[in-house]
Amino acid sequence: MAKDMMTRFELYQPVDIAGALELVDKLGVDGWLIAGGQDSLDWFKDRAKRPGSVIDLSRIESMRGIRETGVGIEIGALTTVTEIEESALIKSRFGVLTDAASRVASPQIRNVGTIGGNVCQDTRCWYYRSGIDCYRAGGSTCYADTPEGMNREHCLFGADRCVAVSPSDLAPALVVLDASMVIQSRDGERVVAAEEFFVGPDADIERMTVIKSGEILTAIRIPGTWSGATFYFEKVADRNTWDFALVNVAAAMRVENDVIQDIRIACGGVECVPRRMSVAEDIAKGSAKDEETARLAGGSASRGAVPLNYNHFKISLLENLVMRAIRDS
Ligand SMILES: Cc1cc2nc3c(=O)[nH]c(=O)nc-3n(C[C@H](O)[C@H](O)[C@H](O)COP(=O)(O)OP(=O)(O)OC[C@H]3O[C@@H](n4cnc5c(N)ncnc54)[C@H](O)[C@@H]3O)c2cc1C
Ligand code: SF4
Repeated sequence: MAKDMMTRFELYQPVDIAGALELVDKLGVDGWLIAGGQDSLDWFKDRAKRPGSVIDLSRIESMRGIRETGVGIEIGALTTVTEIEESALIKSRFGVLTDAASRVASPQIRNVGTIGGNVCQDTRCWYYRSGIDCYRAGGSTCYADTPEGMNREHCLFGADRCVAVSPSDLAPALVVLDASMVIQSRDGERVVAAEEFFVGPDADIERMTVIKSGEILTAIRIPGTWSGATFYFEKVADRNTWDFALVNVAAAMRVENDVIQDIRIACGGVECVPRRMSVAEDIAKGSAKDEETARLAGGSASRGAVPLNYNHFKISLLENLVMRAIRDS
């Protein structure tokens, strides 16, 4: 297959949200949204996706920037990952998002890639990315979930025909911060909790989020709930730059007199959605923030995991990351 040769498409460049919504409504599934293009252009160059029309959102100024909203903040979907990493406001209040942003891809990709594109990006399963007709691509088999399938990067939880994982480093941080995703269509606005925004193959095998044709993610709101809390983010990848997480962990907690009053933990790279570590949270809540709690909670993180042939190593990796999130934050 020829690489780096894109097929023709009609390019639309709306300058406001109303214009973009009109286009997504008119073009339907044939209108591919593009923000920084860091995920989309790979698909186009590999000819694995060939949209007839591309709607470039990058000229919509109102979708950029980080604003205070009283108790919380609102981040426009076109805000770059670098802008998030460098924001003093985010760092002072929601440092887990700063740390997650600093671990996304490479500086060059962060300069162009947007937060909206990061949370809407497609899975990195390499069979699917090669344009093979697997379940997720509308076919009738999963090539990764076979005895010889290359599934080292794939899931421990939530398999349903597809065993791909959520690749985003920002997604678990947004889940622990209890962020809301603002989605607009010509019918109006709906606001979805980050935890409900990502969908697994049981809900829809061809999508990674609740966003439907005709909709655009315009902003992400972070409430004040976890402002200034104790945070932790760690990502383990095969290489320390320009590489997706094998497993990542984000945590937010409130600690008083060395006792964990409240905690949220989410992990990426283990399920098709960022996985909330509810059992570990229950163990940690009300317990001393010490080695024993960290070990018990970490050990619970893999409960219910169903490893594939080549990803058993993710079980101890996941347990250790959750343990460290509690112990070392
Ligand atoms: C080599 C490489 C390494 C990478 N490493 C990492 C990594 O380590 N961690 C990580 O988290 N990510 C990684 N990424 C992914 C990259 O960070 C994201 O692809 C980037 O943030 C996406 O932003 P974008 O604006 O460029 O997305 P685009 O390519 O413009 O869009 C991505 C997808 O989101 C949709 N979309 C974009 N904006 C919107 C919107 N506002 N509303 C609805 N849909 C929208 C598009 O239709 C498309 O399907 C890597 C990418 C590459 C190429
Ligand atoms: S894991 Fe999912 S995306 Fe990958 S080959 Fe299987 S069905 Fe396709």
